[in-house]
Amino acid sequence: MTLLPGRLVLLGRPVAHSLSPVFQNAALRRAALPLEYEAIDVSPGELPGMLLSLRQARGAGNVTIPHKAAVAAACDSLTLVAQRTRAVNTFWMEGGALVGDNTDVVGFLKLVESLQLPYIPRRVALLGAGGAAAAVCEAVREWEGASLRVFSRTSVRSVALAERFAGATSVDSHDALLEDADLVVNATPVGLMGDDVPVSVDLLPRDAAVTDLVYRAGSTRWVREAQARGHPAADGLVMLVEQGAAAFRRWFGIDPDRDVMWSAIRGG
Ligand code: NAP
Repeated sequence: MTLLPGRLVLLGRPVAHSLSPVFQNAALRRAALPLEYEAIDVSPGELPGMLLSLRQARGAGNVTIPHKAAVAAACDSLTLVAQRTRAVNTFWMEGGALVGDNTDVVGFLKLVESLQLPYIPRRVALLGAGGAAAAVCEAVREWEGASLRVFSRTSVRSVALAERFAGATSVDSHDALLEDADLVVNATPVGLMGDDVPVSVDLLPRDAAVTDLVYRAGSTRWVREAQARGHPAADGLVMLVEQGAAAFRRWFGIDPDRDVMWSAIRGG
């Protein structure tokens, strides 16, 4: 995109906890782009009206819980990864059309890369079967020959998700999920608000790496406990920044200054 968007927004509910405005606004200022990234709390009922006004304003932005699937359905065209995940976290206007993409996929790949594992994951265990889980399934396709098991408390959702991705299987217990896994991923919101863990670290295979898509100041309890047990482990902060950086590139055609983004997140 070369023409500046009329507005730049984050649509979700809740959005108050999001760090995206902090680091996106820092990147906008560094790039001298005259826009303010606004977080807008939108109910599902308000979403169609909001999208209409954003179309009229040539808006662009990000989407978070619970609107990713609804925005994917409302877009005029979708990138291949957005088609496959059926979820949009990044959108913009192009020649009058609303275009949707899913940069969570590349964000997740960068998160795993940040662990600097000495191997490419081959047996991925995925907790959760929502929009973020679909992004993980799409990302795992990058690792040739990798298989993926998915567990969700609502089994109909994990069955439906696994059917959409080659190499993915739905399982109905934590034991079946974790057996032999070399990468365990939390794609549920567990740990976001309270101090719960998605699965006890005592059940993790000894050598498994751990990624939690949830992020919190000081990391999540699950990640801290996994690290204490010797697992390579990281929360979702790298994914957040990298999905945001990829979105910035879609909106403006340039890379943001990641150092500025990280410094804004750390309060510097
Ligand atoms: P979603 O579409 O609402 O899906 C959530 C999934 O988690 C569903 O499978 C849901 O199961 C399950 N779940 C919800 N509460 C649970 C609980 N208490 N115990 C067990 N399972 C539970 O949400 P999403 O968009 O996939 O997002 C999931 C998490 O990933 C959120 O915390 C989000 O903040 C995070 N995320 C982070 C990044 C990042 O950049 N770091 C990017 C995307 C998402 P049911 O169907 O049974 O409700």
